[in-house]
Amino acid sequence: MTALTVQGLTKSYGAVPVLAGIDLHVPARTFTALLGPSGCGKSTLLRLIAGFADPDTGTIKLGEQTAFADGRSVPPQRRRIGYVPQEGALFPHRTVAANITFGLPRRHRRSGHRLDELLDLVGLDQAIARRFPHELSGGQQQRVALARALAPEPELVLLDEPFSALDTGLREDTRRAVASALRATDATAILVTHDQAEALSLADQVGIMRDGRLAQLDPPATIYRQPHDAHIARFLGDAVLLPAEVTDGAATCALGTLSVRTSNLAGPAEVLIRPEQLLLHRTGSGPTATVQEISYYGHDAAVRLCVQPEGIGVTARLSGIELPEPGSTVRVSVTGDVLAFPRDRA
Ligand code: ADP
Ligand code: MG
Repeated sequence: MTALTVQGLTKSYGAVPVLAGIDLHVPARTFTALLGPSGCGKSTLLRLIAGFADPDTGTIKLGEQTAFADGRSVPPQRRRIGYVPQEGALFPHRTVAANITFGLPRRHRRSGHRLDELLDLVGLDQAIARRFPHELSGGQQQRVALARALAPEPELVLLDEPFSALDTGLREDTRRAVASALRATDATAILVTHDQAEALSLADQVGIMRDGRLAQLDPPATIYRQPHDAHIARFLGDAVLLPAEVTDGAATCALGTLSVRTSNLAGPAEVLIRPEQLLLHRTGSGPTATVQEISYYGHDAAVRLCVQPEGIGVTARLSGIELPEPGSTVRVSVTGDVLAFPRDRA
């Protein structure tokens, strides 16, 4: 499959700008996740890439093919893009087989070989082929929708929040099946999601959309560890943000003096600490905190703390194995270095 390059893409509906200049490169055979608040233009961007609507300005290239430039637009059916919408994607009065082979040349439709291959690819049993969409679970429906999108061997696959209607258990399984089908076909893909864990665990790069632009586009570990600003830090993952004073690469805040990662910042700042960086001890010399509340998740727990003397609230994430008692007093330390943002930008 091919690479996608989008440059300077803008789109307004009436007087309302939705996309304000999107630059996005998705290398061939890689997976990009897009995150952003509802209404920020994620679906609009996918629709422009697919050719269902045209941008006001900008260019869209699929490998060597220019899909849109200077008002000239290649129609959707010639872009060779597979599209998996959020829900209601399947034709209700057609069988699974007919849904999947819908976009295939007639001889492929009849042979059944390609159908079996596609069912296999998305982890569905062949017995399902004769069923109708209403006879399938939500997860099965989404796998069928993906199989249909992959059937004509598209150059690029776009998935618009394909798992959001599924409940947790089904979601995890479906997500895994879809990811492995995409990897098996060497797909170049964009996944729009509002699930951070989904974005971080599946994608080669994660883009955060904000105000009609891509605020950041980076590999998962980079975007989590090095968010460009406090807003992105808060949007992707839990963040403890504390006012601080930075001098000589060290930030002094309610949790002590912490080493700052790659910053030439000095003066008033806001430091970013991830909840898993907070360690609790029964004794020691660190700042003291009162344990206020514990949310237990099994594999780990969120421990809400009130840090003395100023009474600042922070949340630590600990393994669920050894947890403090609510109401007890603990010492807090921070492991690893922290990021600092200028306070006015935060
Ligand atoms: P997201 O997918 O990020 O939730 P959308 O791309 O669906 O956001 O929508 C972005 C904005 O554009 C919203 O304010 C929405 O109301 C508006 N919008 C989307 N499509 C149209 C349309 N066809 N006509 C007018 N406004 C639209
Ligand atoms: Mg949307």
